[in-house]
Amino acid sequence: MTPDEILALDRRHVWHPYAALPAASPPYLVESAEGVRLRLADGRELVDGMSSWWAAIHGYRHPVLDAAVTDQLGRMSHVMFGGLTHEPAVRLARTLVELAPDGLEHVFLADSGSVSVEVAVKMCLQYQRALGRPERRRLGTWRGGYHGDTFHPMSVCDPEGGMHHLWGDVLPRQVFAPVPPAGFDTPPDPAYEAALVDAVERHADELAAVIVEPVVQGAGGMRFHHPHYLRVLREVTWAHGILLVFDEIATGFGRTGTMFAAEHAGVAPDVLCVGKALTGGYLTLAAALCTPEVARAISADGVLAHGPTFMGNPLACAVANASLGLLRDSDWAGRVARISDGLRAGLEPLRGTPGVADVRVLGAIGVVQLDHEVDIPRATAAAVGQGVWLRPFRDLVYTMPPYVTDDADVARIAAGIEAAVKAG
Ligand code: PLP
Repeated sequence: MTPDEILALDRRHVWHPYAALPAASPPYLVESAEGVRLRLADGRELVDGMSSWWAAIHGYRHPVLDAAVTDQLGRMSHVMFGGLTHEPAVRLARTLVELAPDGLEHVFLADSGSVSVEVAVKMCLQYQRALGRPERRRLGTWRGGYHGDTFHPMSVCDPEGGMHHLWGDVLPRQVFAPVPPAGFDTPPDPAYEAALVDAVERHADELAAVIVEPVVQGAGGMRFHHPHYLRVLREVTWAHGILLVFDEIATGFGRTGTMFAAEHAGVAPDVLCVGKALTGGYLTLAAALCTPEVARAISADGVLAHGPTFMGNPLACAVANASLGLLRDSDWAGRVARISDGLRAGLEPLRGTPGVADVRVLGAIGVVQLDHEVDIPRATAAAVGQGVWLRPFRDLVYTMPPYVTDDADVARIAAGIEAAVKAG
């Protein structure tokens, strides 16, 4: 097919994320990707500032990851996970347990981040039911979050400004505390801490679990908050027999400078969701990990009632093992710190630019917040004009590049962000 034919068929038949049909603006046609570069059908090369939405931490066509998929393909691409098991899944479970915060020992392999959140919620509801507390069926969270696009995850996204505000009454009614105060380094606010504790305590008898994104709220607004609030949540949930779920689907595997964002707070959840970078962005795979206490309670009462067709897909597990191996064998923390320095150097000068409300950097994440909604097609085109791939949304132009991005390409991404900010 010619590029024009592909784009015409795309326009006629294909839904894109959060798009109407046909999409308001045509997508860019990408032909291949290698290292940190995407190659468009018209020959342009773009430095990827998005890691394909937090996932491609080692870049594209990494020889080790390519080999892991090819090797596994030569054995089996898929078998059902009911009644069967295989080494790629078992190895992966062991590695996840080793890497995760202490106390998380059991792994449920899910097909996507949203599904891992559904599984986490199911674990929490079944746990409370097993303990004779079936009335504890609500979830607590703070505003400003994003946990995915299926129904329980949508119900704990921000109910007003978030992507799922359309759903109103259809979603289960959850308990919301205010958005945490902005700033990873901003000293904790005792008034917010009191409000957080109060929101949980007032609903303690109805809450099965509290679920939050630790330290970074991603698609809900790219906000950073002080890790102290996670310690507050850990204490108040423990005190009331409420489970604590950390959604590290975006922040997991080094993105904020620690392997998991929870490490900034030194606390462990009862249930942990991971995804995205788990396979280095190669295949769709996520996981929900839980403590022995959660697993024991559920299992004493019956089974964890979940079992997708593609659970534990061997290709995805094999590439996840290879990706986590690459991460462990690399100086990922040094690379993330270097990207952080590069983003700070490139983005801080944008403070004071007309239209810029805030600039923030944490780990390998850089965010420029505007004082208005971004014109997405114009801002994207401006970045593409600088040879950079970005996907701005709402009032945000932001990047989370692959960890293998070198200094020159980090500077280029910053130039792409500047162009997008000025155009958008
Ligand atoms: N949770 C968080 C924090 C996310 O950032 C996302 C995706 O952006 C999800 C859950 C949903 O993951 P998926 O898109 O794989 O369903």
